[in-house]
Amino acid sequence: MKKLILIFLSFISFCFLSEVKAQIAEVSSPDGKLKLEVFSENGNALYSLNFQGKMMLEKSPLGLVTNESDFSKNLKFIESKKDIISKKYSNEKIKKSQVEYKANTLTVNFTNADQFNIGIEFQISDNNIALRYDIPPIKDHLSIVIQSEVTGYRFPQQTTTFLSPMMKPMTGFARTAPSYESGYKADAELGIKADYGYVFPGLFHIGNEGWILLSETGISSLYCASHLETTSEKNLYQVAYPNMKENNGFGSSGAAISLPGKTPWRTITIGDSLKPIVETTIPFDVVEPLYEPSQRYQFGKSTWSWILWQDNSMNYDDQTKFIDLASKLNYEFILMDALWDKNIGKDRMKELVQYAKSKNVGVMLWYNSNGAANDAPMGPRNKMSTSVERKKEMKWLKEIGVKGLKVDFFGGDKQETMRLYEDILSDANDFGLMIIFHGATLPRGWEVMYPNYAGSEAVLASEMLYFSEDVRKQEAFFATLHPFIRNTVGSMEFGGTFLNKFLTKSNKEKNRRLTTDGFQLATAVLFQNPIQMFGIMPNNLTDAPKLQLDFIKEVPTLWDETVFIDGYPGKYSVIARRHNDKWYVAGVNAEKTSKKLKLYLPMLAGKNLELINDDKNGNTFTKSVSINKKGEFEIEIQPNGGFVLKN
Ligand code: CA
Repeated sequence: MKKLILIFLSFISFCFLSEVKAQIAEVSSPDGKLKLEVFSENGNALYSLNFQGKMMLEKSPLGLVTNESDFSKNLKFIESKKDIISKKYSNEKIKKSQVEYKANTLTVNFTNADQFNIGIEFQISDNNIALRYDIPPIKDHLSIVIQSEVTGYRFPQQTTTFLSPMMKPMTGFARTAPSYESGYKADAELGIKADYGYVFPGLFHIGNEGWILLSETGISSLYCASHLETTSEKNLYQVAYPNMKENNGFGSSGAAISLPGKTPWRTITIGDSLKPIVETTIPFDVVEPLYEPSQRYQFGKSTWSWILWQDNSMNYDDQTKFIDLASKLNYEFILMDALWDKNIGKDRMKELVQYAKSKNVGVMLWYNSNGAANDAPMGPRNKMSTSVERKKEMKWLKEIGVKGLKVDFFGGDKQETMRLYEDILSDANDFGLMIIFHGATLPRGWEVMYPNYAGSEAVLASEMLYFSEDVRKQEAFFATLHPFIRNTVGSMEFGGTFLNKFLTKSNKEKNRRLTTDGFQLATAVLFQNPIQMFGIMPNNLTDAPKLQLDFIKEVPTLWDETVFIDGYPGKYSVIARRHNDKWYVAGVNAEKTSKKLKLYLPMLAGKNLELINDDKNGNTFTKSVSINKKGEFEIEIQPNGGFVLKN
């Protein structure tokens, strides 16, 4: 009897222990530093992440809710399996031209209360996790609506956040929000609720343990884009689907997919410094091209009059001035912004494109994405929103030799808007046109998925430096955030690098620029987009110093390599990028006092370089410097200033 009781007690304690731990699977990154554990507890599927033995994400929920069945609870573990993935790819549009991706994979299968199956797939590379759901047919049903997701991220209590709120739908200029144009708060405490959640990507500082960047990738026409919401638990953030009020309330919030089907990838990048965050290629590693390019697309630099000369410059004569400017700077493009349809018209546009061609400059033209999503009044309107009109228009654009389009003012993150993005890209490829999106959502793997995709705004961009004193005051602050957050997961078409001292056409009196020339030049390297619009004006050819002009002529927009050097988001940032054998190391300082840094640049050890920097009065100078044999170099960055080092 005593023996039986002992056996009974040990059985109870076994059940108890297994219930508490309930770990059902684990897998590590190829370098062994990042460990994922999956748990099944009380019908909940959970995961946790450890990096170098330290807890980075505590047990966090997995699952989703569909119109057919609930996969967020009463889940029973069935089996798990592991595999490995290894691939190489090249892409000239992203931060690194040649990528080698190696990951260990884990698939965990569950059944729910209705006896339906769901798989959860993980890919674990060094410093990155990508996860998604795999749903088989539900009896004879081959379509499903995914209504919500419980995928969450439970941070250790010491975590602080660097997040940008989603904008309130149908507000702002011509009811065009959300357009990813609110700013960021740096080092905010956990759990601060934003009325409409926070945009992807979100950066989290896990105190002394390191950093986490959350995002998502692989969003095509087959899904909605999502964002982050706070929950009733202060340290738990969750994936949320679009607000119903977007797109003037039209379209649904969830996603309709065919079965068997998969959700897009949610990505988590982890490091003990910001290096893996800046250098991650995870948004591009787990997606594939959706079609072949119809031709070889050329990227590069562009002038645009609108940024300082505004709507009044949308006339034939002013546009020829900016074609001439592009030609003198050896830029590949001119962008002609809104209202050209009315003020120049199609017949004269044909002549203007011919004129640009005679100057070896390609033309990019602005289009309104509308449609019925909001009230944006600028033309051309109703040309991009339906397949019939779009193809007619694109046929004409191809005939007259236009190189690409900037399409603006999208309605939000709903699946129907994701379809519009994809349809524009796909049709444009048929007519050999590149596409830049403005007033738009974050690109999610699109550099790889769509060969003719050439960048998105999705940021509080240069136009707000013209419109807002407050944004001018925070220019340096935001510039120290983008290399670590927004721009690290996708191309960012910012439209900056001004040499006007005053951000006006006359270059005097109002809109004084509060950052130095050195700062402006540094952003041409810090900010990455395969086509960059420069805020250069015709007057800069005579009033800007030769040093500045020489730099904006030669700086590339395509990069073979990107390396984190130093920085803290909101304070300062230093990034190095390489194009062929030319390195550009660039940094800016958002703090009130000058910043002295000892940079470690092993790739430039023992080399003689050119330094462009600001003196104490904010005047920009150049001098020859050398990096010591150990690769060390001391630099002082002025407040609101910046530098570039190049070989
Ligand atoms: Ca905008």
